[in-house]
Amino acid sequence: MDLVMTGTGSPIPDPNRAGPSQLVVAAGRHLLVDAGRGCLMRLAAAGSGAGALDRVLLTHLHSDHLTDFNDVITSRWIGGFPPAPLDVVGPVGTERLVGDTLAMLGPDIGYRIAHHEDLESGPEVRVQETSGGLVHEDDEVRITSAPTEHRPVHPTVAYRIDADGGSVVLAGDTVPCAGLDELCVGADVYVQTVVRDDAIRHVAIPRLMDVLDYHSTIADAAQTAARAGVGTLVLNHVVPAPAPAHEEELVGRAAEHFDGRILLPADLERIAVSVA
Ligand SMILES: [Zn+2]
Ligand SMILES: [Zn+2]
Repeated sequence: MDLVMTGTGSPIPDPNRAGPSQLVVAAGRHLLVDAGRGCLMRLAAAGSGAGALDRVLLTHLHSDHLTDFNDVITSRWIGGFPPAPLDVVGPVGTERLVGDTLAMLGPDIGYRIAHHEDLESGPEVRVQETSGGLVHEDDEVRITSAPTEHRPVHPTVAYRIDADGGSVVLAGDTVPCAGLDELCVGADVYVQTVVRDDAIRHVAIPRLMDVLDYHSTIADAAQTAARAGVGTLVLNHVVPAPAPAHEEELVGRAAEHFDGRILLPADLERIAVSVA
C-alpha cells in the first residue's frame, strides 16, 4: 500500500503545494482522501485520475478540502465511456453537499447532455455518510472511520485504511481526541494536518488566531502518534507552510514528543505504507 501526497498545502494558496488531498493506493484501488485545490492535476502527475478512483473519502466539508470536488465529479462523468458512478464517503452533511454541487453544475450538465448523444443523464454520485465505524470491508481492503473534533465544523471524521498488510490513518483537521486516538492505535502511518502555533501567535491577526482553536499543533500530532504507537507520523497541511530551510526544525519539534519516523513531505511524494 502506498500513500501519495497529492496536496500538502492548506487554505493559503501556495505555488508549490496543492490544497489538501491524499491518494492511497491499496490492493490496487485508488482511494482519494479529500479533494483540495489542484488535486486532479496532482492525480494526473501521480498516474491516477477521476476515472481511476474507487472511492472519495471526505474528512469534513471545509472548502479547502473540497475545492476540486466538483471537478472530480465532472471529470469522471465526461471522461467515462460509459460514465461510472462515483462513490463518495463523508460525514453527515455529505449527501446535501453532493446534491448542492450537482445543482451548481446544473447548467454544465445540461449543455453536455444536449451536445453529446451518448450522455443520457448527469453524473451518478453514490453517497455513504459515516459517523464512525466500519465504512467498507472486502477480502483486500478495510476502511473504518472515527469522529474527530474540529468544532464549530461538525461533524468531522478521520479514516483508517487497512490493506496489503499495512495500515494508514488520514486524520483531516482535528484537535487531539479519543476517536482519533482509537483509530491510530498501532497504525503504520498517521497523516495529520497541523498548524504552527508559535508562528500564528507571532503574527497575531485575530482571524488567523482562530485556527488554533480547532487544529492540532505539531506537538499535538506528535503526542497523538506517541500515544497510539504509530510507526510514521506525516505532518501535512502546515499553516503557515514552512520555507524549506525550516522544515528540519519543525520535524525536530515533533521529535521532542515522538521517537518514530517523522516526515514533512512535498507534493507528489510517495510513502510506502507496506511492502505489498
Ligand atoms: Zn477544516
Ligand atoms: Zn483544512
